[in-house]
Formats: sequence, structure tokens, C-alpha cells
Amino acid sequence: MAETATQPSRSRDLDKLLLRPGNLVEPTFEPGPGLRDDLKEYVKVLVVGAGGLGCELLKDLALSGFRELEVIDMDRIEVSNLNRQFLFRVEDVGKPKAEVAAKRVMERVSGVNIVPHFARIEDKELEFYSNFSIIALGLDSIEARSYINAVACSFLEYDADDNPLEETIKPMVDGGTEGFKGHARVIKPGITPCFECTIWLFPPQVKFPLCTLAETPRTAAHCIEYAHLIKWDEVHSGKTFDPDDPEHMKWVYNEAVKRAELFGIPGVTYSLTQGVVKNIIPAIASTNAIISAACALETLKIASGCSKTLSNYLTYNGAQGLHTKVTEFVRERDCLVCGPGILVELDTSVTLEKFIGLLEEHPKLHLSKASITHRGKSLYMQAPPVLEEMTRSNLSLPLFELMGKISKDIVHATGTTIKNDKKTSSLIKLRVAFKGVDGVTDMDTAGGA
Ligand SMILES: [Zn+2]
Repeated sequence: MAETATQPSRSRDLDKLLLRPGNLVEPTFEPGPGLRDDLKEYVKVLVVGAGGLGCELLKDLALSGFRELEVIDMDRIEVSNLNRQFLFRVEDVGKPKAEVAAKRVMERVSGVNIVPHFARIEDKELEFYSNFSIIALGLDSIEARSYINAVACSFLEYDADDNPLEETIKPMVDGGTEGFKGHARVIKPGITPCFECTIWLFPPQVKFPLCTLAETPRTAAHCIEYAHLIKWDEVHSGKTFDPDDPEHMKWVYNEAVKRAELFGIPGVTYSLTQGVVKNIIPAIASTNAIISAACALETLKIASGCSKTLSNYLTYNGAQGLHTKVTEFVRERDCLVCGPGILVELDTSVTLEKFIGLLEEHPKLHLSKASITHRGKSLYMQAPPVLEEMTRSNLSLPLFELMGKISKDIVHATGTTIKNDKKTSSLIKLRVAFKGVDGVTDMDTAGGA
């Protein structure tokens, strides 16, 4: 299709935002066609996740004037995705989501360039993430959000007065949905709360008290959990319930129906039984579309300054009627992730190997098997074997020398920590300071000699 024929209609709505001045704009906003062209040329957005939200996000961003997009996702397409992950077709089942999603959007939106990455987010180097102007998250797991948040915050640097340096802020836009509920938020590390500052927003899974299930069930879910947690064990002594066995699931369903009839409770169905037992919350296509639209708009606002950004957390609830609300959360002053970094004071003689050991013993960190990066340079890599071998000789050298004999600087350590009995990949920002070298740098000594 000819560019000239599609251009006016495609950018018509966008032009209203980008070509005219306004009174809600950011101080840096400079309306005009130049801004529209800059968006296309210079702004690179990474979409993390190519599932329900990711598909919507890619489409929305491509239609909002962004031309340079990349998408990362480690999953392959499954049949059950097809009802809402609208970029995928039956013949795509088994193929990587990122690749198919990128291809489909490029087919439909002329001029947009999307680079797919079929990979785990942890397998990309920090440098990969540093290349993007904005990171948009369409994820369904807390762990993955936590990891990307740590990556984006790791680029953040503070000045001597502990104010964040503007050019080191890597903005994120995070979307999430759960059935008819969703959220969209803007994270500007160092300014708005990061994901870790508000981790309490994700409370542990609600479990029903056993006495309610046994004595006073009020909902269909109570009846199902009674059959699942109490009745199953009573009848099948010693046999473990297998949620993937249809016979087991049918048994629980039938018991739940009996229980519901006894108490006059409506609503027990087979699919609800599966949902409750497996803890599945159905994904709703319209919720994804609404949340993604909010995220794409925030991305556009950050990139162009055409309006003040959301401050800073929007919740959407479409379960009964419709309700949206914006809450301004505040930063956690001592946040380990978006704060200035954990201070580690060392003697100049401490070797890299000793330093890695210290991170494991550190009471706040417990970071094991750490790989260490300084100013984008790998000082030691645990994997892959080729890099491990290349960097191994650094282990016996003093960290002070490896860091160019500067008195203090930021060092990044990636490794594993144990969270809730689960091994998770962690990225930690450390402020390493050497004792007794205050302000003495290579250049100072050279000048004084
Ligand atoms: Zn934080």
C-alpha cells in the first residue's frame, strides 16, 4: 500500500496530540511535525511479553507512531491462547510468540520495524536493555516484573546529593490484567515508586479458612474447595489429587455439585471447578485491550511530552459496572532496587573472588553465584563457559585495580537469591567504595608524580 495514501488517516488522531500546543503538556514539549518524525526515528520501545497484553501493546504502539519496536518472549503459541492473543492463528501453534507477533504487526502496519527475541529475559545482557528509550511490560508474573524492574533501575545513577540523574532514568510502563480487573502504571526510577517499592500490592493468594468450607459455605468456590481439600482426602485416603487428571477433576466437580445442592448455592460448573482448583483466572480480551491502550498512551506521553504522565497507578475494574481510579503511590526511601544502591566498603586489596564471596555472605543480599559487571564491562561471568574461562583470571586480581583504581563506583551483580523458598535470578546494584582512597584516582597520582 502506498505510504501517501495511508499516512494522513493513520496519523490524524496522533497529530492532534503532537502538532498542537496544550496546557497539560510537559515543559519540554515542542509540538510540530519534527516531533512526529523524531518519535519514528529515535524512540526505541521494548515490549516485554507477547501474550494477551503483549499482542495488544505491539499493535497499539505500532499504530501510535512508533516505528522501532522490539519484543521479547520465551513462550511458544498454544491452542488455548488463540481466543485472545489475536495475532496468532491455528497454524502458528508451536511457534515462538515473539516471532509470529512481530511478523503479523509488520504485515499490517506499513513502515514499522519489529525485532523479535525468542529468549528468556534473564538471558539478555544489561546492554541489550540499555538501548531502549522506554520498556513496556505485558507480563503475567511477579518474578519477571521484578527482574525487568531491577534491570531498568540498575541504570539509574544519583548525584552527590542523592538526586537521580535525569539521563540515567529508564522509564517503564507496566500493564497487568486478571479477569475483569487490570492496572496500568508508570515507573520512572528514582522519581515514582518502582515495582519493588510497592511489592505489597501483590498479596499472597487468598485461601479460604477450612472452617468456612466445612461448616458455612456461601459461594460456589467454597463448595468446590470443600470437595477438593476436605472430601477428597476423606474418601481417597493417601491418594494425591492430580489437577491434570480429568477423572479426578470430574470427581471433585460432582462432589461440589452435591454440596452446593445441600446448601442451596448456585453456580458450580465444571469450568469453574477447574478454575478454582487450578487457581486459574480467565483472561478477558477486552480487559487486555483497555489496559494496553492505557499503557500505549502513557508510552506516547513519556516519549513526546504531549501530556503529563499518569501519576502513577491506574486501576480498572469492569466486573460490575465499570470503575477506574488513579492512585499516587510514593517511593520507598530505602528501596534496595531504585535507591542509590547498597554501599559496600572494601579494602583495596580485596580480590574479585573474595568480593563475590562477600555478596553471598552479605546479610541483606545472599546473592550466590554472582557475575560482576562494571561500567558495561564483564569482570567475571559464571556462564556461558567461554566467558567464564575468559574472565576467570580476573578472580585473583584486586577489585580496586579491575575498576580502574577509582575510589567509588557502581557495580552490578547478577546471581541467584532465594525468595519464598524459590530460587530466583536477581540483579543488584552496589555502590562500592574503597577505604582510604578518598578522591585519589589514577589521574591524581599521575599528576602529583
Ligand atoms: Zn523502589
